[in-house]
Amino acid sequence: MLAERVKTLKPAATIELSTKIREMKKSGVDIISLNIGEPDFAPPAAANDGVRAALDQNISKYGPVPGFPELREAICEKLRNDNGLTYRPDEICVSAGAKQAIFNALFALCGAGDEVLLPTPCWVSYDQMVNLCGATPVPVRLRLENGFALDVDAVERCITPRTRAIVINTPNNPTGAVYSEESLRALGRLAVKYDFWIISDEIYEKILFNGNTHFSVASVSEDVWSHCVTTNGFSKAYALPGWRVGYSAAPRTLAKAISSIQGHVTSATASLSQMGALYAMRGAAESVKLMAEEYAARMVLTGDLLDKIPDILFNRPQGTFYYFLDVSAYLGRRFDGQIIETSDALSRFILEQAHVAVVPGEAFSLPMHLRLSFSNSRENIIEGLSRMAQAFAALK
Ligand code: PMP
Repeated sequence: MLAERVKTLKPAATIELSTKIREMKKSGVDIISLNIGEPDFAPPAAANDGVRAALDQNISKYGPVPGFPELREAICEKLRNDNGLTYRPDEICVSAGAKQAIFNALFALCGAGDEVLLPTPCWVSYDQMVNLCGATPVPVRLRLENGFALDVDAVERCITPRTRAIVINTPNNPTGAVYSEESLRALGRLAVKYDFWIISDEIYEKILFNGNTHFSVASVSEDVWSHCVTTNGFSKAYALPGWRVGYSAAPRTLAKAISSIQGHVTSATASLSQMGALYAMRGAAESVKLMAEEYAARMVLTGDLLDKIPDILFNRPQGTFYYFLDVSAYLGRRFDGQIIETSDALSRFILEQAHVAVVPGEAFSLPMHLRLSFSNSRENIIEGLSRMAQAFAALK
């Protein structure tokens, strides 16, 4: 009944988990959600002002497919000031979230017979998007021992004549790694040498800790720029995930293709959201900074509490709001006569026994791990980790 391309499609594990949690909460269970992949902050006031202004001005018609010119100009200015990137407004396409921006780019670039490299563990949707495009995802395994840094030699070993693109994400979900400028320069050289595209997902760029800085790979050189798509959005930095605004920046021919795809699939993203995003860019810098500071404090709090749980291996994140925990020491242990064999089973055990939600590594193509989000109040982090510690201790 279904098309071939969707037969292998997996529902996003994170979304499946959210549905289960919602059901448990509805039936009265007090769940602490440390699985959350979105900010727990309210939108910045400036964003709300933008939507109000749009309502007052009756902005309700279809807008230009790649987004309002003012918003694209503001994005170009941001890319210039924050990232040292030169793009023109006709090289920007505003989309319904960074998710759509990434999919548009992959759909414009990749098809049957193409391979797309994915440094792994990686965000839940990349491999599914590559599959939907008819291309083949090729994992490039990164290692906890190296802080899940971008291993450019490992990338080079995976390159074949079919390699069409790589999708990178720094700061990284789920590992919290921030790729070094040196590694990104080396990746840029590879992209030019072997002629493949870099799709650079920079959605967490504003959430950085301990003096780490963000480097955009497209800023390496003109040659590298012409092999890059830079994607970003408003869901994380501006705490506007439900407003669905993201964007891609790409050389003009590709930007036009991206916009054509979007034109036939969804048209412009919602006008009200675009206006909210524009005002946020103009007036929310202070709240972006305050949120980042609060994440930094929670990162330390979470790390200190995790340190007290034996046999879990992890690095403190350099950015994002996630810890990625190697829990292999707990697999094979028992509770109530039942053996917990996988991180997926472990996450279900923690949810059912401790009423704490975390995401199993399987969702990020790396089993034997759990992703824990500290996008939650300090109080909930403390309570959640205390419950988790008890659950781990109950495994024998
Ligand atoms: N990339 C990564 C790495 C993400 O974690 C997310 C959100 N979970 C996205 C892209 C998608 O963001 P958006 O809400 O803008 O579609």
